[in-house]
Amino acid sequence: MIQDYGTLYIVATPIGNLDDMSKRAIKTLLQVDLIAAEDTRHSKRLLQRYAISTPMMTVHDYNESAQVKKLLSFLQKGKSVALISDAGTPLISDPGYRLVRMVRQKGINVVPIPGSCAAIAALCASGLASNSFIFEGFLSVKQHARLERLKSLKDETRTLIFYEAPHRIIAMLKDMSDVFGEDRYVVVARELTKLFETIRGDCLSDLVKWIESNTEQQCGEFVVLVEGVQKASLSELTEEDHRILKILLQELSVKQAAHLAAKITGKKKNLLYQQAIM
Ligand code: SAM
Repeated sequence: MIQDYGTLYIVATPIGNLDDMSKRAIKTLLQVDLIAAEDTRHSKRLLQRYAISTPMMTVHDYNESAQVKKLLSFLQKGKSVALISDAGTPLISDPGYRLVRMVRQKGINVVPIPGSCAAIAALCASGLASNSFIFEGFLSVKQHARLERLKSLKDETRTLIFYEAPHRIIAMLKDMSDVFGEDRYVVVARELTKLFETIRGDCLSDLVKWIESNTEQQCGEFVVLVEGVQKASLSELTEEDHRILKILLQELSVKQAAHLAAKITGKKKNLLYQQAIM
């Protein structure tokens, strides 16, 4: 690191409850020369709450943007900068990684100030395997691309974590049900750290029904966590189970075949569905 350069701090801010702001985050935002924010108007409320009057600047992570050049020269003059996003940890489904890469390439020190992150908060409360997981962020808004992505993840054994907007939550869960099977266990974490925080885990078909029949559950911010495929359980299927499923698949849709095979064999429908789509 070059001694005379300033430092870029990556500062996490709350995802709802302003009390989640850490002392170190407040101290850093008070001490830096400049706060680079995704949306300065949005961040003003948070800064006012902590009486932080450090100058602010809007920054996007486009390589050649004028703000990025300004920021680099600022850091190279020995000034320190804090990067914040609208909520949570910057760079997590938020802009910033190109900026951090450029800053590091110039030999400028980058220091993370950790704190809230919706994906991690949701994972910790979900009860799903957390030893290994995949963060997928937002799926495409286009259904075809969304389905293709989900198809590429259907055999994943690790917990999958997605972000989703309220107006697409039902469509997303229905697409998941079509691809992963309606019995796949999913946890929906809504409005984390806020007044109407709701964390509900169920099979996809029941989860869709529950959200469809509760309009208040269709509002707010969402993290969706999907249980990974239990590989060990696929080996539970006997040769006879495979034979039955194969016969049914010759006459019926995957969904119908899995449903009927589950009735005949007594095995879990989702397991048979997983086998049928392999
Ligand atoms: N950087 C943020 C983080 O650390 O989580 C995420 C920013 S991303 C643009 C915003 C998305 O994160 C929302 O659309 C939602 O999916 C998720 N999210 C943010 N706050 C949330 C909350 N309080 N409860 C549930 N999900 C939240």
